Amino acid sequence: MTICDNLRTIGQRLRAAEARCHRPADSVQLLAVSKRHPVSALQAALACGQRAFGENYVQEMVEKAEALPGQGIEWHFIGPIQSNKTRLIAVTASWVHSVERLKIARRLSEQRPAAAPPLNICLQVNISAEDTKSGLIPAQVSALAHQVAALPGLQLRGLMCIPAPETDFSRQRVAFARLRQLQEQLVGEGLALDTLSMGMSGDMEAAVAEGATLVRIGTAIFGARE
Ligand SMILES: *Cc1c(COP(=O)(O)O)cnc(C)c1O
Repeated sequence: MTICDNLRTIGQRLRAAEARCHRPADSVQLLAVSKRHPVSALQAALACGQRAFGENYVQEMVEKAEALPGQGIEWHFIGPIQSNKTRLIAVTASWVHSVERLKIARRLSEQRPAAAPPLNICLQVNISAEDTKSGLIPAQVSALAHQVAALPGLQLRGLMCIPAPETDFSRQRVAFARLRQLQEQLVGEGLALDTLSMGMSGDMEAAVAEGATLVRIGTAIFGARE
């Protein structure tokens, strides 16, 4: 299976999941998570039409962006953020899915180039309440969401989660439903949010069933990482 074959297969899985849930075709965007895969793998995906790529490491994203100029790539940063790396993210990325601190959000807003559109932001939520996972606890989300929504260089778009691994479909749905309900609460508080970044290779169908608008897929497109 080539990267193109894999992208086509994932696309078919997404379209089938949308149809089963009576959601419009193409309402779920595919983010190709290319972390720890070489530039050649991204070139293969670009050649079959993929434009949105997710990266976890700032330096790696910047190097890939420099190696692939002028291709209309939309870079999504999805990894942990250190405050000394915010400038590179603010300059390179179109989206950041892993914001969980006001200090980081303020720096991203200040460092976003004035000529660029606002940086699209999702707040990361620790939806399964795992000690080891990053992300906000649900009770902290509303306060930070309102603060981030007020920052001029940022556009708050929604929420992101990485639930605890779970193989059972209905149990997968429980975590995703919690994120959706949190999003609905924020919309009820007046925030205009349109993005639920949830679902990975093993649980994307459950995420689509609970309203995911973007799934983040690595292994099922590019194979195992080193
Ligand atoms: C690595 C990663 C993914 C992709 O995971 P796969 O299991 O390779 O599909 C998705 N989201 C985040 C935040 C990641 O770090």
